[in-house]
Amino acid sequence: MMSTMPWNRTPSRAEELAGTDDQLSMIPAWSVVLAIAVFAGVQYLFHGVMPHHKHEMLPMRLLMGYSWGTAFASYVLLVGYVSRDVKRRKMPAALWMLIVVLLPGGIGAVVYFILRQPILRACPNCRTEIAASYHFCPQCQFQLAPVCGQCFRGVQITDVYCTQCGHDLAEDHAPARLRAYSD
Ligand SMILES: [Zn+2]
Ligand SMILES: [Zn+2]
Repeated sequence: MMSTMPWNRTPSRAEELAGTDDQLSMIPAWSVVLAIAVFAGVQYLFHGVMPHHKHEMLPMRLLMGYSWGTAFASYVLLVGYVSRDVKRRKMPAALWMLIVVLLPGGIGAVVYFILRQPILRACPNCRTEIAASYHFCPQCQFQLAPVCGQCFRGVQITDVYCTQCGHDLAEDHAPARLRAYSD
């Protein structure tokens, strides 16, 4: 009961990181179903539709059907992943789905993974959308990651001195590691 109270729903940093790393949950059910259908369809194409010759070896045909089926099914899963990924990055979904589906040989997917925007998340303080690389919220100055009090570059919470300028992190008015991790 305690953990389901709505005012306790601000996710911890560890939860947020785990959420963004959970790539399997990014593949929607429709693309899994479609991938299975595509795989089955390719098997049917190789064994049911394409003309058979007596001299043709069955193991070869099985292998070809399996590899083409796997390749097409994987691409369907990839398209499903992109369809969800594109939304959490606030990129134009329809345009990118067209690019990924229509450009031949998976080039669209390669272009997508090169050009995609960083994942946005909400500032814990004011809910402004911010990129994962920000140290401070651009709207309310909320500290999103531990930084050095002298050069304001990112530091690890376990650091005693800044790795960039050598500043003693314990000297900061309120140490960065305490400010960033006090909820
Ligand atoms: Zn903010
Ligand atoms: Zn520093």
